[in-house]
Amino acid sequence: DIGDSVDAGKGTIRMENIRKTFDNGEIVACADINLEINPTDFVVLLGPSGCGKTTTLRCLSGLDVPDSGHIYIGDEEMTYEKPKDRDLAFVFQSIALFPHMSVRKNIAFGLDMTTDMSKDEKNERVREVAEMLGIESMLDRSPDELSGGQQQRVSLGRAMVMEPAAFLLDEPFSALDAKLRDQMRVEVKQLQRELETAMIFVTHDQEEAMTLGDKIVVMDDARIQQIGSPYEIYNEPTNQFVASFIGSPSTNMLPVEVVSTGEGYDVVGDFFRFPLSDEQVDRYQGGEQGNVQLGVRPEYLQLDADEKLFDADVSVIEPHGARDAVHLTADDYDLTAVTPQEKIPGGTESVSVDFEIDQIWLFDGDGQRLL
Ligand code: ATP
Repeated sequence: DIGDSVDAGKGTIRMENIRKTFDNGEIVACADINLEINPTDFVVLLGPSGCGKTTTLRCLSGLDVPDSGHIYIGDEEMTYEKPKDRDLAFVFQSIALFPHMSVRKNIAFGLDMTTDMSKDEKNERVREVAEMLGIESMLDRSPDELSGGQQQRVSLGRAMVMEPAAFLLDEPFSALDAKLRDQMRVEVKQLQRELETAMIFVTHDQEEAMTLGDKIVVMDDARIQQIGSPYEIYNEPTNQFVASFIGSPSTNMLPVEVVSTGEGYDVVGDFFRFPLSDEQVDRYQGGEQGNVQLGVRPEYLQLDADEKLFDADVSVIEPHGARDAVHLTADDYDLTAVTPQEKIPGGTESVSVDFEIDQIWLFDGDGQRLL
């Protein structure tokens, strides 16, 4: 495999079969992590709390040493190298600026520690970075004279002056209020394009992941579940976890069986039955199966439909602007539809529902996709 990496760009980062456990193997934090990050990728590690995102990033940075597996940065194996020798810059959730130093000193800190650059060169680099971040006028202030967003820019600046092969960011905006967080996301995305340097960004917030990532790595239970573009993980989830975790409101899941009709297959639920389309039958080679989960996104539930699959009771309508989320109950199952307002029947408590059959997913007992 080292042969492959000779062709890789200088900054290409590869994690191969990384496994990391804690407490004598009792806690598996990461397993089978295989990830390739190109020099200009914006990669987001996304998953619920405790799924192993931070540990993956810490293994990459050298703050944790994996139990097994290999990490390459460019052509060099880095698995056991010290953090400072990896040419990676870490930006943490807690901002951790030095309160007694000026913003200028804070930004220059890494340069002062590790390089023998002239004072003028350092000043110039700090000025350039501060200009990119829009904080040039604040260089002589102390950190406590800055807002939270400005402080987070300073910590980004501290990473940027080092001109690393990649930036590692662990929930850097979680302490900021919602509006500032939105603004910082846009800024960081633009910054990443200007810098043309890889960023690996950890978050549990799928909206943040979707806005930032060109490549999203969805993790659960210490493992990578899917790697794909925002479009792919939303529209082509490879398993039930990804289908449920990505998207808000969540994908509706209903237990069904797949039953052969001789010519094709029917999907049979507790209160509906419909045939798979010809195209789906061509793709579906599974045969009859019980214990299958049907997944359908809220936007693919049609209300007040001409062809109805079943009736449901409307429980709550959540206004969202142009489209509303309509919570429904059918035969003891809770479902959610997201629908244009004109499709919401006024004054009625019961509504006819249809699925867009081409948009359904079927997951087998292990949560793997069948269609
Ligand atoms: P969060 O979003 O909550 O930060 P995460 O996805 O980043 O979660 P990790 O912090 O990587 O998850 O943790 C993965 C698992 O490893 C968790 O079960 C966690 O409790 C455990 N873990 C992490 N660090 C240690 C440690 N130093 N000692 C023991 N267990 C740890």
